[in-house]
Amino acid sequence: MIVQCCVCGRIRRDAQWTIPSRHQLQNQQISHTYCPICAHKTLLEYRKTRSALNSSLTPKVTLQSV
Ligand SMILES: [Zn+2]
Repeated sequence: MIVQCCVCGRIRRDAQWTIPSRHQLQNQQISHTYCPICAHKTLLEYRKTRSALNSSLTPKVTLQSV
């Protein structure tokens, strides 16, 4: 079975992530995951998205001057 990154399409071979040839993917069972680089990027994106969501969900209290 081949482990392939679902973002960049690299496959794992002996702890190395390489771009596969079409031949390498033929008749193979492919398990999708994240390579270390894409996992890192995805995590950063996730954090960014989450903090953006959090700040938009935080109720904005406006103080009106009396
Ligand atoms: Zn990747």
